[in-house]
Parts: sequence; C-alpha cells; structure tokens
Amino acid sequence: MSALPSPDQGDPSQTDGPPAAPQTMSEPGSAQALPSTDDSSRADTTIETAPADQAGPPDASPSSDEGATTLPFPSDATVNTSNRRLEDGVARCPRCGASDVALRVETGMLACQFCRYEWNEDRLDATVATGNVGSLTGTTIGTGAQDIDARIDAVVTLKCQGCGAEVVVNTDQQMGARCHWCRHVLTINEQIPNGAVPDAVLPFTITHDQAVEIINGFAGKRRMFADRAFLAEFKPDNIVGVYMPYMVVGAKASADVAGVGEIETRRYTVGSGNDKKTLYDADVYAVDRHVDFTVDDLTIEASIQRADMNTAINTNNVINTILPFDTENAVKWNAAYLTGFTSERRDQDVSHVTPGLENQLLSIARSQVLTSISRYDRGVRWERERLDVEGTRWLAMYLPVWLYSYYHEKNGNGMAHYIAVNGRTGEVMGSVPVSHPRLLAAALTTGTIIEGLVLAFLAGTS
Ligand SMILES: [Zn+2]
Ligand SMILES: [Zn+2]
Repeated sequence: MSALPSPDQGDPSQTDGPPAAPQTMSEPGSAQALPSTDDSSRADTTIETAPADQAGPPDASPSSDEGATTLPFPSDATVNTSNRRLEDGVARCPRCGASDVALRVETGMLACQFCRYEWNEDRLDATVATGNVGSLTGTTIGTGAQDIDARIDAVVTLKCQGCGAEVVVNTDQQMGARCHWCRHVLTINEQIPNGAVPDAVLPFTITHDQAVEIINGFAGKRRMFADRAFLAEFKPDNIVGVYMPYMVVGAKASADVAGVGEIETRRYTVGSGNDKKTLYDADVYAVDRHVDFTVDDLTIEASIQRADMNTAINTNNVINTILPFDTENAVKWNAAYLTGFTSERRDQDVSHVTPGLENQLLSIARSQVLTSISRYDRGVRWERERLDVEGTRWLAMYLPVWLYSYYHEKNGNGMAHYIAVNGRTGEVMGSVPVSHPRLLAAALTTGTIIEGLVLAFLAGTS
C-alpha cells in the first residue's frame, strides 16, 4: 500500500503521509476546529460589540480565545479616500457651479438640477492606490473605514458657504441640508469618524418604478398562500431606497487543514439471501493541505442591526441574500448620491467584523483544497484547521438596497417582514407572511402536486 501524491493541479501543496493514526499538527494548541458547514452569514451572529465608550485602537492581540487566527492590529496603513474635489465642503456641478445636485438613478450618475449636466465621481478603484491584494501585509484601512469615535455626535453643524449661516445636519437621517436663508445646498463631505461617511458609494441604478415592479412580481408569485391582511395592506409604492453600510475586504491569507481521507480498495458481498451484506476495504490516509490565496471584494455587513440574526422577530438577514454587488464600480464619496435616499450609519469597526471575515476565509480555503482531494473517493474528514492572515484591506462602502417592510402581527406575536431588491442588479429576496389555513386547504383539496408547490414555497420564504 503506497501513498504517492496524485498529480493534482492547483496550489495546495501535498504532504500526505502514509496510512497512520491522525497526526497532530506542528503547532499544537493552535489548531482550530470549526464546523465544516459553510454558513458564512450565520457567523455574523457572533460579532462582539465593544463598549460604546471605547476609544483608541483595539488591543494588539486578538481577544478571542481561539488562537488559530492571527490578524495584525492596529492598522499599519491608511488609504486616504477623501474626495479632494469637495474640499470646500460643497458638492458643486463641475459645469455651472450650482450646488443643487442629486443622483439620477436612470443613469446612475449625478445630475445638476440647474443645467442638467451629468457626471460621476471617479471610481475608487481607479483613483486610489489601494494596493494589489497579493502584496498586502498587515491591516490597511480606508479613511472612511476607520474606527468610529463614540465622542462624535451624529449631529453635525455646517457653516453655509453662501451666507455664513449655521445649518444642522443629523447624520443618522440625512447627509445634507438646504440653507434656509440662501437656499444653498450643504452636504457632509468631510470624512468625520462617526461611521456616516464611507470610503465609497455604489449608486442606485434600479429606479423606484423598476423596484416596485420587481417587488410586485415577487409578492404576486406568493399571493396564493399569503396572509389576507398582508395582501390587503400590500403597497409596494412604499419602498424606501437605503444605502446599507458594508465593509469591502481584500485579503492575503494561507491556511492549513488536516484530517483523514479514505480510498476504497475493494468492495465485496458476503453471505446470501437476506443476510447479504456489502463490505468495503479502504486505505486510510492522514491528509494535510496548505493553501495560499488572495480574495478581493468580500462584502461584510457593518451594521450590528443588520447582522442581528434574531429571525423570531425579523427577517432582515434577507439583505445578505441579494449579494453580490459590483463593488468594483463604487465611486468616491459625494453626499449628493444620497439625496432622496436614506442611509444607515456604520456602527461596526474593523475589529468587530474580523471574526466574520476569518470564517469566510476558512470557508474559501476549504473550497480551494477540494480539487486536490478528489482521489479520496470515500471522502476526507477535516479535523484541524489553521488560518494565517498576512494582510487585509478594508474599505467602507454604502451599497444600494430597495426595501419594502411589513409588520405582521398575529396572536400577539409580531414579525417584521422585508422584501429587498439589490439596487444595482434587481436581485430580489424576502419573506411574505403566510396564511397557514390557506396553505393547508390547498394541500388537502388539490393533492400532491400542490403539496409539492407548498413545500417549495415554504422553503423559499421561511
Ligand atoms: Zn450645472
Ligand atoms: Zn446660506
């Protein structure tokens, strides 16, 4: 029985030993055994919230007791993503200088309300040297993704460039205001460290009307079994365009996984008649793999409310089901992109969402080694995993989502239902309250075909 490495392609280096008892890895105590199920969205539930008054960077060592991962803190480098063009504090039309500027969703561009000129801010990728992910070391953070300073109020006072008046903007609700004295439009263009101004914005390109149509279609397909009160109150016109805060992450990492793999050598039948049994002989190998890899544009929620997975009272994790976004097309910050939309302030720092990133990286590593273990036809059971993160780059972004929300109450139990539409791709997902009597009646009267539909429907909306 020999254990020659098979000529597999791909990065993972192969150091399979001969059949043996499972070996321990070279760094005892540092290995981490995570469930091998890939459910990266669920990982968000474990995000820790730092005390609100915490100031300064997190401690240099990861606070978790799972010593398997190493992510360097504090940040080693900062990418300045501020939009120099806006340094006088006003988003002006480049052609006529007017300050009345808003996103025109039909084109996904900013439009001057006076001269109708349309333009876009530069793509962040094209104008800011964020570095190749392959050369990342340490932690690189965009100026819009820096730690939130709890001392900075959400309410910001702007001095009007036109008349000198002071105008107050509550960054929880809006990112600009019109001066009530001279009608000049003031917007928040400075990257204040309160989580309100990200590194980049991905503008809406799905219009309100298109989103209404998409949501109508989504609810229409589920009409047959939907709760009557929901149907009566369904008003898709009430959708709201929201910019959701995300961290978009690039990373360079390596991982080691080790476990036991089996290859079938013989299959035979013993006994006869009712006592017939099929038996297998298999060689058992200790398998370990090392993989170096880079990832770009991973999106991670940066709002604790959105990461809240309490599905008993809401279904807001639907936002993760309308990923991905074309984040490579995100443009530099200009508050005018938010005019007429709402936005949710980021409340998570890099250190808070790092555990979620590490889980995603481990999932990627597991999938990367899959091709190299195909010869273990009876499978490989991973027993130890270790992740080393060499470098990460974090950029805070606002991503566009059309949201329809419906609060459904039945027998004293309230549940918020959402239907969300990706503001770039039109991808839709959500939940609709179901009338169980209608489901049951349909199943009883029309038999198994409908029953199948019902099951599919429940699976799609639960
Ligand atoms: Zn203009
Ligand atoms: Zn003014």
